[in-house]
Amino acid sequence: MATFEVELPHTEAECLAALVDQARNPETLPKLVWGCRAGTHVGWGTLEAANENAARQLISRVLRDKAKVTPVETFTAGQIKERSVGAGLTCLPTWIRSDESSQRDGQLLAA
Ligand SMILES: [Zn+2]
Repeated sequence: MATFEVELPHTEAECLAALVDQARNPETLPKLVWGCRAGTHVGWGTLEAANENAARQLISRVLRDKAKVTPVETFTAGQIKERSVGAGLTCLPTWIRSDESSQRDGQLLAA
């Protein structure tokens, strides 16, 4: 399984039909949040699926074609440090850049 961030833009005219159709999928519905009442007709959510196509199948047919589906992942501080060293980034916080970060974390836990 992979994690996908979905963005579901729609018009005010499409809104009710999209929500009614999405309500037919009771497992996915609580994983989505909507800006409709604030006047921003967009839904957002984080869905687990085998692949992008499977993630799209969880989305209302009214919204599916315009949906933006992006595979996403989390990074640990160690992974960020690893990538920053290779790229020569210098804008990272000292605790990530420092070779002593694990020691500092240990001190924070002990404090
Ligand atoms: Zn809406």
